[in-house]
Amino acid sequence: MFRRRSRVDREFREAQRLGQELFARCGNLPSSDYPPPDLRAPTRQDVSGFMMRWDPPLVVDGEVRACPVCGAYRNWVVFNMRDGSVWLHCALGHEMHEPRLDTAWYNRNSGPVDRFHPTLEDGLRYLGH
Ligand SMILES: [Zn+2]
Repeated sequence: MFRRRSRVDREFREAQRLGQELFARCGNLPSSDYPPPDLRAPTRQDVSGFMMRWDPPLVVDGEVRACPVCGAYRNWVVFNMRDGSVWLHCALGHEMHEPRLDTAWYNRNSGPVDRFHPTLEDGLRYLGH
């Protein structure tokens, strides 16, 4: 777990470095305030987490993940929190930490961020929960 986190951190730092290099090479941008803050996509530091729908059964380490409370095994909302943890939210609202999944898994499996929600409840409503 610790090794995996540090690899993710390394990948993140490497991506950040590449981005800064790219930015430095495009030195003709009007100023470092470009684009204006309200047009910038929030970074991982700006939000408390990411969420996505996961409708098919969720297979973790070869086994279908079921809610320990109600037994649901599909129609999840999956959260990736700022601390790197992954949480599952079943359709009946039970929430559980899934320690076998992490930010790297989330990033591999999620599409581009298309919407930001001011609150968790707003996000859950948007995702149909
Ligand atoms: Zn449940």
